[in-house]
Amino acid sequence: MASVGGDTIFGKIIRKEIPADIIYEDEQCLAFKDINPQAPVHFLVIPKRQIAQLSKAKEEDKQLLGHLMFIAQKVAADMKLDNGFRVVLNDGADGCQTVFHIHLHVIGGRQLSWPPG
Ligand code: AMP
Repeated sequence: MASVGGDTIFGKIIRKEIPADIIYEDEQCLAFKDINPQAPVHFLVIPKRQIAQLSKAKEEDKQLLGHLMFIAQKVAADMKLDNGFRVVLNDGADGCQTVFHIHLHVIGGRQLSWPPG
């Protein structure tokens, strides 16, 4: 089997080699709290199978990408984000992506502003 999670810090979290505050896990994905939260609630949803970034997604990734989005709202509900939240996916250098293992940011618990920077 190819390395689960790939060679990023998120791969180490998936393999439980480094700690994280994991709030949801199933066979396809993991959600854990962001180490540098931008709001009272800020967690990440990542696939266990590594996709480096959205712009590298393939046809066969469609189901998994949909699963990440579904779990984002499920965990948001668990976290009582009843008044709304934001889902962000940063892609590449211009998108300010720093970890090249695709992830959804789910941010909430305060009034967010728009547009983003
Ligand atoms: P991005 O800039 O979209 O690639 O976001 C990467 C996110 O991962 C940032 O919000 C970081 O705070 C977060 N992050 C990096 N390392 C960890 C870690 N060990 N545990 C939890 N979150 C992390």
